[in-house]
Amino acid sequence: MTEGSVRKLVIVGGGTAGWITAAAFARLLGQRLEIELVESEAIGTVGVGEATIPQIIRLNTILGIDEHDFLRRTSGTFKLGIEFVDWGSLGSRYLHTFGDTGLNLAGVAFHHYWRRSMASGAQSSLWDFSLHQAAADQARFGKLDRVGNTAMTGLAYAYHFDASRYALYLRDYSEQRGVTRTEGIVESVERDGTSGDITAISLKGGKRVAGDFFIDCTGFRALLLGQELGVGYDDWSRWLPCDRALAVPSERLPTIVPYTRATAKKAGWQWRIPLQHRTGNGHVYSSGFISDEAAADTLLAGLDTKALDDPRPIRFTTGRRQAFWSHNCVALGLASGFLEPLESTSIHLIQSHVSRLIQLFPRSAHAEVERAEYNRRCTAEFEQIRDFLILHYHQTAREDSEFWRYCKNMDVPDSLTHKLALFAASGRVGRDVDDLFRDASWVQVMLGQGIVPADYDPMADQIEPAQLSEFLANLKTLIARSVAGLPSHEDYLRQHCAADPASLAA
Ligand code: FAD
Repeated sequence: MTEGSVRKLVIVGGGTAGWITAAAFARLLGQRLEIELVESEAIGTVGVGEATIPQIIRLNTILGIDEHDFLRRTSGTFKLGIEFVDWGSLGSRYLHTFGDTGLNLAGVAFHHYWRRSMASGAQSSLWDFSLHQAAADQARFGKLDRVGNTAMTGLAYAYHFDASRYALYLRDYSEQRGVTRTEGIVESVERDGTSGDITAISLKGGKRVAGDFFIDCTGFRALLLGQELGVGYDDWSRWLPCDRALAVPSERLPTIVPYTRATAKKAGWQWRIPLQHRTGNGHVYSSGFISDEAAADTLLAGLDTKALDDPRPIRFTTGRRQAFWSHNCVALGLASGFLEPLESTSIHLIQSHVSRLIQLFPRSAHAEVERAEYNRRCTAEFEQIRDFLILHYHQTAREDSEFWRYCKNMDVPDSLTHKLALFAASGRVGRDVDDLFRDASWVQVMLGQGIVPADYDPMADQIEPAQLSEFLANLKTLIARSVAGLPSHEDYLRQHCAADPASLAA
């Protein structure tokens, strides 16, 4: 054992971030580390965060979680993408799906063939060639790896679930694997006089919890990394001006659709997340452009089902910590920064940061090189997602409110300007190699927000016009046939993962 070796891990905070961290460390390093998680029921969790992206399936696989059991206990549903309503212009609507559209041919992305057909006078939408769109329109879901016996990929999906049940589920998982949970409010932090490393935390009532490495999962408070170690925060509100949310549950939807809806409003947007027993709703808005009272009225007027409670306010500042790891402390979840929930990326960031941390986890708390690498990669990831989110706000024809005029005319990072220009000119995607969002996502959102590329890849001219028409017609037929063979989303849930009545009553 080396001097200063890390034997005891202390996680402060028991929200989604704290329990994902505990579960992952227990599974992958639990034999080597003693793990203690401190949380306070009196403080509670942020209580939102119910929509995910497909990468969560990787986390579940690593943890060995059974999908159906997981959905039963979290009242979860399946998610094929996010429907954006009124974003590019009032009245517009598109689905950012988790899958590909059409079928790439001879190494050329499908949307170039589609664009070519448009140039020859065809009237179709890119989404006429989307398996996900067809399944979403008919509220169907099933496991489908491929479309027929073609190379067309099947349904890629993620989940919606109840946030508080998710944390409880992971808590059970972690405690069964040896994680100790301690209830209490952290009042003070002890540091080493020489290195400045954290050595212990003290709880109200006097209990002291010592450790070698600390994970700050205290939510927006960022008690350890922000308040104690003084790591600053980069504020990105000038690009992503929403800074408040009101969340409210409502009755379940008459038909549980397999997608999240994000409807743009006058000064922000409203989410609708369908769960088995209720619907999650929230209005994310910019306090500079609308009052809290008007924001609450907008939320309640936009509900599809009866509200079950009063709207609950949440404040935030979009941005990130200037370092994610300082001394012997890493912040995860809301303590590390916040990218607003438009593309459901926060839970993904937790799991991605945890897995990076585990890959780089040091034997000794003195780990300058690992720390630098971790900070470098987390920074790039935050910035790439930031740009993708800004795209939704900036690339709009809306000028019907001060908020949208601001978003349309604001300066955006050069990295995004370049991507927009490239796509507008030729339909090509200037995606960074390690960007979370694939080409298919950039294409759907750029088209959905109203960019019609002026040209397409010349390689798409390689096939004859008649072949192109036949190719497109065949794709539509194949998709329609595949979707007709899927069960309804509700039937699938009922059959495989109907919410556990005991956990619903809890
Ligand atoms: P929290 O849930 O706030 O947990 C903090 C923990 O720290 C709690 O256990 C608390 O008790 C503890 N704590 C704090 N101070 C102390 C103290 N002094 N002593 C002891 N314990 C303490 N993400 C998605 O992926 N998809 C979404 O759809 C989505 N929607 C969102 C909508 C909104 C409006 C917001 C604000 C966020 C959303 N997120 C979403 C983000 C998601 O909610 C968070 O990433 C996730 O819940 C993790 O939160 P957390 O665990 O970091 O913090």
